Amino acid sequence: MMAKQEPIELPPTITVRELAQKLNVTPIELIKTLMSVGVMAGINQTIDFETAEIVAAELGKEVRLAVPEAEEETEAVGELPQWRKWLMAEPEAKLQPRPPVVAVLGHVDHGKTTLLDAIRNTNVAEREAGGITQHISAYQIEHEGRPITFLDTPGHAAFTSLRARGAKGADLVVLVVAADDGVMPQTREAIAHAKAAQVPIVVAINKIDKPNAQPEKVRRQLADLGLVPQEWGGDTIMVEISAKERLNLDELLEAILLVADTADIRANPQGRVFGTVIEAQVKKGQGVVATLLVQNGTLRVGDVLVAGTAYGKVRALLDFRGQRIKEAGPSTPVGMLGFHDIPQAGSLFFKVKNEKEARKIVEERQEAAKQQTTPTPRMSLEEFFQRLQEGEVKELRLVVKVDVQGSLEPVVRSIEERAKHSEAEVRILHADVGNITENDVMLAAASGAVVVGFNVKADAAARRVAEQEGVSIRTYRVIYNLLDDIEKALKGLLEPEKQEVVLGEAEVLAVFPASKFGKVAGARVRRGVFRRNARVRVLRGDTVVFDGEIGSLKRFQEDVREVREGYEFGLGLKGFKDFQVGDRLICYTIETVPPA
Ligand code: GDP
Repeated sequence: MMAKQEPIELPPTITVRELAQKLNVTPIELIKTLMSVGVMAGINQTIDFETAEIVAAELGKEVRLAVPEAEEETEAVGELPQWRKWLMAEPEAKLQPRPPVVAVLGHVDHGKTTLLDAIRNTNVAEREAGGITQHISAYQIEHEGRPITFLDTPGHAAFTSLRARGAKGADLVVLVVAADDGVMPQTREAIAHAKAAQVPIVVAINKIDKPNAQPEKVRRQLADLGLVPQEWGGDTIMVEISAKERLNLDELLEAILLVADTADIRANPQGRVFGTVIEAQVKKGQGVVATLLVQNGTLRVGDVLVAGTAYGKVRALLDFRGQRIKEAGPSTPVGMLGFHDIPQAGSLFFKVKNEKEARKIVEERQEAAKQQTTPTPRMSLEEFFQRLQEGEVKELRLVVKVDVQGSLEPVVRSIEERAKHSEAEVRILHADVGNITENDVMLAAASGAVVVGFNVKADAAARRVAEQEGVSIRTYRVIYNLLDDIEKALKGLLEPEKQEVVLGEAEVLAVFPASKFGKVAGARVRRGVFRRNARVRVLRGDTVVFDGEIGSLKRFQEDVREVREGYEFGLGLKGFKDFQVGDRLICYTIETVPPA
């Protein structure tokens, strides 16, 4: 077993910059990794925990969701997901009950896999289908004549989030808590995710066969987290089970159906075809094999699907036993062959008219993703220099707010005064009296400016917008500090100082004609070295007759990288051929001096 580090705690959303800090990588590294998983995000852009979790895993780091405060447990709802809108658009009369879809979450080693296997093995006659156990990452069982779909994504064992587990289409979460271990960090995370997704939870208190099992303690711990057991008057069903001994599994299935009955689990089998990509991978000889959960409509061989920026025509559908089927209705997990690219787990798939339409949608999405890479105009004093160097910005833009009319002019003037001596421009977009408001922040957001305030405060709305938009607000009580910070930013903005470092000196002993450079010099190094990738200045007396790059550096007929003191060599210079015997050659490089 590898020694495990404590997972890094992250909030539900985080900016790319903060995440880079937390993961101890450079922002650029992180942005690259984000791109490699298909997310285009700028340094100040906010990404959600699921995305952070995926890139962290790419970088070999383990993260977990910091337990949210009670009121913040649900993520901002914002706009309804597309599929919910589609479902709502289905005519009520056409909606029919469909099997509940269950995701199993919980802390690592608490028994998720054992439970999923136990349920599968006790309820599915596998052998008849040829004995190959796992075809797709989901299966369906029947309990008391009613089907239940289980999502089974062991490849994502480290992830508790529904999206990362491809379990977004789940109607219900079974939270597995080992009775000998109790509530652990990933238990809390799983609860947070299920609540955020507004998916009801059934608790499976597992490993009840163990002598040190303490189910009462688990109940208490869960009650503290807001999951109050029914027997205590709450509304969470908790079933004591042993996945290993297959104890009380029927009771658990019973509980699942009970909870499912209280939810509105319906779909229109004749309606629009859409669902969730549970998992996808390339399999040898088969191309992309995707596990799909159909949530609405009936998916058929020959249908054309789009998921994210992947599309494809359904070549074959396999049920969870690996048998070919022709169609799959709501809540049916299927293996699907035919995607051209690997669609992302957790993404929404939907049927389109034909491949032409699919290509059009995918191209539009790719284009939109590209658009997003154009830098969003968000700025802070600290990162200014870097962004200037990267050519993203040309000037430091400021929105200035001060306390009284009398200080407006002097503050603006002193800022401009300081700016005068730097190579980068400072542009004051707006300067006014009064507290920093939402409008100031909006202006800064729209134009990539920093808001600076002198003896003023940012009101709550301004702070909120600043947070949302990634705008940096700085307030000062002392004018000197304000000017000092701006000056520091501008110093960063200054071109780094360049310094010439002399490597060596030589004297021209002879001049030859040569094909490529016209004339080359035969010379001897008097001091130091001559290097191929350096520059050379040609001096005749005190006059510099040429200054430029080396075109060739040879000893005998051989190209060499350097020539040391005392040796003779042949030298060609790019763009210069008028060597004369007796010319002095200075070999030097230019190095940047880090700003003080
Ligand atoms: P997961 O990481 O949550 O998928 O956990 P696993 O299903 O891999 O189980 C972790 C370990 O706990 C394995 O060694 C299982 O055999 C063991 N385990 C799982 N369920 C039970 C149970 O009900 N009782 C006992 N005694 N051990 C169990």
